[in-house]
Amino acid sequence: MSSRPIIEITGLKKSFGTNTVLKDINLTVERGQVVALIGPSGSGKSTLLRCINLLSIPNGGRISVGDQSIEFNGKLTKLPSEKSLANFRATTGMVFQHFNLFPHMTALQNVMEGPVTVLKMPKAQADAQARELLSKVGLAERADYYPDKLSGGQKQRVAIARALAMKPAVMLFDEATSALDPELVGEVLNVIKGLARDGMTMILVTHEIAFAREVADQVIFMRDGVVAECGPPSVVINNPRQESTRAFLGRFKASENVVPMHPVPEASAA
Ligand code: ADP
Ligand code: MG
Repeated sequence: MSSRPIIEITGLKKSFGTNTVLKDINLTVERGQVVALIGPSGSGKSTLLRCINLLSIPNGGRISVGDQSIEFNGKLTKLPSEKSLANFRATTGMVFQHFNLFPHMTALQNVMEGPVTVLKMPKAQADAQARELLSKVGLAERADYYPDKLSGGQKQRVAIARALAMKPAVMLFDEATSALDPELVGEVLNVIKGLARDGMTMILVTHEIAFAREVADQVIFMRDGVVAECGPPSVVINNPRQESTRAFLGRFKASENVVPMHPVPEASAA
């Protein structure tokens, strides 16, 4: 294993028409780090994650994940081949606000689907792996349930297991708990915390500021398509240098979202 950063982003730019959404993003993530990406709505957080996963194709800059690297140049008509895009995409697993589970498949089948169809993993092996991952997210007993029989928190945990099944080097979470009822947030955060303990590299877009402070090694505050401030939570959250960071965090304090921390029960099979 190399000690090079697992993610290196330099000079990343993304525009939609005349709207420049990412203006020159530079970002380094070390192996095993947890990065919390915070900032106001519209600041470009989702677009940045989508660029790392190539759901959006950047207009400029370079993204390296692991040993793969792609340079984007808006003037070029040549994009990387579909195959190299697919390989690159597979290095990251993404979890969205809405789970997008296949409704006609059980939890187990949802987690097996990618490995079987994309990685051509033998079914018995995919089944065993899926059961192990469901157990890891506290849902061993729910393997044969269909999504409509699962709570939002359980569905999101299946979605996390499904992303892990593809063995990504990095997990990307885009407001994974924002759509959940408040009492279900803790069980999902707890799974994410477990992944952090296991050494999974993760980038989390989150409004759970207390959680970010607890699990993140690095906090990035984005504003208007730039990284306005970045550093350890003890600085960016507890003692921000930038007025814009202070103003943003002040809104959370005002709405009592910073303290107290959500209670985080053990992920259970319940
Ligand atoms: P955040 O996740 O921080 O709320 P986004 O990355 O979703 O911000 O959006 C940043 C800006 O990019 C917004 O102005 C948004 O309207 C614009 N944007 C995002 N996706 C698209 C798209 N597919 N087409 C056009 N504009 C988009
Ligand atoms: Mg977003």
